[in-house]
Amino acid sequence: MRRSREQEGFALIELMVVVAVLAILVSIAILSYGPLVARSKIRACRANLRVIDGAIAAYYAEMHEYPQNVNEMVDQGILRKVPREPFTNQVYGLDADHRAVCLNNDSSVDGPHTY
Ligand SMILES: [Zn+2]
Repeated sequence: MRRSREQEGFALIELMVVVAVLAILVSIAILSYGPLVARSKIRACRANLRVIDGAIAAYYAEMHEYPQNVNEMVDQGILRKVPREPFTNQVYGLDADHRAVCLNNDSSVDGPHTY
């Protein structure tokens, strides 16, 4: 392929501009990745809470009493496995109103999640 005079004369300043633009794009991508992951984990936590609340209702319908913890619902086959909090990998608690609660106390990830 024959190079044009303009391509041969691609100035150093133009290359520097291209490199600078690429560096900015890469840093934007890196900076937005963290919050993106955090948001998706919060969404996953809320989805877990909804699933557990649904399982509590199913457990009550079947057993005529509320479960004491998430494990009891797994033992009864209502939940396939114990859901884990995406940030802490801890199991979920059940509150006095028989609802699932996120036990995440890490303020750096907005603390406990609700839906
Ligand atoms: Zn959570």
